[in-house]
Amino acid sequence: MGREDSDEAYVLDLCDEALGDRGERQHRFDWLRGDPGSSGRRVKLPVDSYWPSRRLVVEYRELHHDQPTMFFDKPDRMTVSGVHRGEQRALYDTRRDTQIPGNGLRLVVIRPAELTADARGRLLRKREEDLSTIHDILMRAVADTTDVPAVRGRTEQPIRHETSEERAAVDESQVLMSAKGARYHRDGNCAGRQQGVNNSDQLGRTLHPPRWVSEGDARIAGKLPCKRCAGGQ
Ligand SMILES: [Zn+2]
Repeated sequence: MGREDSDEAYVLDLCDEALGDRGERQHRFDWLRGDPGSSGRRVKLPVDSYWPSRRLVVEYRELHHDQPTMFFDKPDRMTVSGVHRGEQRALYDTRRDTQIPGNGLRLVVIRPAELTADARGRLLRKREEDLSTIHDILMRAVADTTDVPAVRGRTEQPIRHETSEERAAVDESQVLMSAKGARYHRDGNCAGRQQGVNNSDQLGRTLHPPRWVSEGDARIAGKLPCKRCAGGQ
């Protein structure tokens, strides 16, 4: 099945229709790159579709993004990331999840379960129903302007996009830490944290997805409080 008649193309066409604007399919950003190959070159990773005027990226993630399968994973072949293909895909999806909002763009991930689909995640393509669902998803994302910064270029410290629900769900005593970061943060939008994320990315380091933990757990993990947002020295 070619890309044109794939479920992905179907979903992205509906996004175009809902937005009244054609997205740039397979767009590649300078700052979104894979791991270095043998030549040291880091290829730009594509996103499914990008609407520059909306500062919006949509990713359609079929079930194989969440469930490794033999067919997609080529388990006998290693990738430049030093992991098998399925793991690399998960790694790159995580990178997209961090870097796209980190660079001031809205990211909407659409999954088959949100649309009319069978149990294996193949879309039933009930067009009107799916269009209405996608319209709602995208309008909600586009209307939520609270955390999307105006990007003024590479020097700006980008802000991770967090929804108000996401923030409300976080208890006051919770802090944000990542596996490799030396410090934990109380503020998910902390400029210091964003700087760290950017620096790691520029150095080609693997980005470890941050997670909310209790402050006690962060201390046990050997993390120090951020100087900017968590009262560190
Ligand atoms: Zn901080």
